[in-house]
Amino acid sequence: MKTKINEIFSSIQGEGPVVGYKQLFIRFCGCNLNCNYCDTEFLEGKEYSPQELFDKITTEYDLKSFHSISLTGGEPLLSVDFLKEFLPLIKGQTKIYLETNAMLCENLLKIKNNIDIISADIKLETATGLNTFDKHEKFLRNCTEIETFAKIVFDENITKEEVSRCCEIGKNTGIELVLQPKMIDNKMSITSEFCNYILDEFTKLYPKCRLIPQVHKFLDVR
Ligand code: SF4
Repeated sequence: MKTKINEIFSSIQGEGPVVGYKQLFIRFCGCNLNCNYCDTEFLEGKEYSPQELFDKITTEYDLKSFHSISLTGGEPLLSVDFLKEFLPLIKGQTKIYLETNAMLCENLLKIKNNIDIISADIKLETATGLNTFDKHEKFLRNCTEIETFAKIVFDENITKEEVSRCCEIGKNTGIELVLQPKMIDNKMSITSEFCNYILDEFTKLYPKCRLIPQVHKFLDVR
């Protein structure tokens, strides 16, 4: 059982409520979506078995010095069979933080006992060209016993219907929504006025929302 890993690196988490913590990022290759704001390279990589990846990160890094290990991509849940073997090896060394596009609920169920924090996306149709709200809601309904937030990347194209459907998912699951303005290069694609307006629109329908930009881009770290 091997999977392709694009890169392994130490950096500062720049998104969502755990912003500012030091994480070890493990970027998995491949994704099942094609978002119009994707700026991640995830096609090329090196193959590892679970034991090989465990040996590499425990030899090269002091895992106790990290807030958590971020499983990111691409879409890490595409490598679920690998994760089923890898996560028990690493359990107890530090927390496991899963960054996912929240489409593959069945895969999550196979490994969720070994996940501590989930950063799950709610993708907007204006970003992916697909209506995936039902899939995200099913996924998030299965995250309620784990520390989870739902990230919504938006720009000026977000519609009232999208705001309303995201808030409905929030209400149905109780999960906090984190609004993240789309960036173009290292700049916000929208004005601060629009940020305020959108946060108002969300909180009128579902108060458990906050707006956090991608802080790593301001810090100029990966
Ligand atoms: S889900 Fe994430 S990695 Fe996949 S295309 Fe969208 S932004 Fe890129």
